Amino acid sequence: MKFTPTKSAIYGETLDSLTALLKEHGQPAFRAKQIMEWLYKKRVSKWEEMTNLPLAFRTWLAEQFEITPTNFVLTKQSEDVTDKLLLELGDKSLIETVIIRAPQIGVGQEDSRKTICISTQVGCAMGCKFCASGLEGLKRNLSAGEIVHQLIQVCLQEDARTPRARAELASFDNIVVMGMGEPLHNYDAIIRALTIVNAEWGLGFGARRITLSTSGLVPKIKQLANEPLGIRLAISLHGATDEVREQIMPVNKKWPLAELIPAIKEFNEKHGRMVTLEFILIENINDSLDQAQKLRDIAIDLHAHVNLIPYNTVEGLPWKRPSNNRSERFADVLRDARVPVTLRREKGHAIDAACGQLRLKTEKTRQAEAATSA
Ligand code: SAH
Ligand code: SF4
Repeated sequence: MKFTPTKSAIYGETLDSLTALLKEHGQPAFRAKQIMEWLYKKRVSKWEEMTNLPLAFRTWLAEQFEITPTNFVLTKQSEDVTDKLLLELGDKSLIETVIIRAPQIGVGQEDSRKTICISTQVGCAMGCKFCASGLEGLKRNLSAGEIVHQLIQVCLQEDARTPRARAELASFDNIVVMGMGEPLHNYDAIIRALTIVNAEWGLGFGARRITLSTSGLVPKIKQLANEPLGIRLAISLHGATDEVREQIMPVNKKWPLAELIPAIKEFNEKHGRMVTLEFILIENINDSLDQAQKLRDIAIDLHAHVNLIPYNTVEGLPWKRPSNNRSERFADVLRDARVPVTLRREKGHAIDAACGQLRLKTEKTRQAEAATSA
């Protein structure tokens, strides 16, 4: 289902697109710069606060653009490690944005850095069998403005935590595009959003501290390799052979490993950065030593870092995480070959970084409420 908002989000405009748009309406070029400055440097969230803009112009802007494309619904904290922000969009859809305070995910170091995990779609069309985000299919793509605004919401929430200091996005160490949705299935919007996040006139967040995770859309990985952005790439591998991967990731039927691996190499060659292979460990599905050996060989071939993630159980799905012992033995196969590997050891399921679960719960509660009040 496509959602066409009556107004487009101001946070989805680049300096160039806004300058061009304002020019058409007889406004000088410096107006766009002023607006960006209010949005991203002074971080105001109301048109009336943009006091150096003429009143009539502010009124016109308010008619043209949405300045609050997402609304904060609630935060769910988990053992002081993650904060999940549940956000509501203009059409009442829900998305999640997660702040992870420790340890780092996706980039391979274990320390207590702050990472933000953003969503790119409502639901997901890829249908991975283990994932809460894809359970009900794709509802719609997020717009670039909705993607960028998640980061503004994170800053606002951090401001509320430490009322005297204003939280700057730069105080976060990493942004990972690992929330709900397949980012490369919403390619133009995510590239535009990350351009805004990275730009000097925008949020000014370094591209090297941004990691995009994909389930493996081969043509889009190749396209991404040619973007000037310079972000990092993580691949959701989850199976070291087609046979195993196909069982849990339908995308592998379209783009099997024989196509995926050369595309990752192409990205490597163009960017010279270590790619991360994510591998969720699911009991009796992909956690055998044979899979570990095959994963080791792929990682060596790609000069990749491997991020092993014990599976987070999802209500209604049959999959389980293996025992710590079994996960350690799997990791040892990689360690023995000096493949850089991280095995996340959470306290229970505290670091529930797999987005989609809170949203699903809230959606279900809403549906149940609607059913009882009908
Ligand atoms: N669609 C993209 C990014 C979002 S999913 C992708 O698939 O890469 C982000 C990561 O969370 C992926 O590696 C995904 O496989 C993983 N994930 C999904 N459900 C999970 C679960 N229940 N437990 C652990 N990781 C999960
Ligand atoms: Fe979509 Fe990623 Fe979940 Fe697969 S793992 S269904 S691609 S969000």
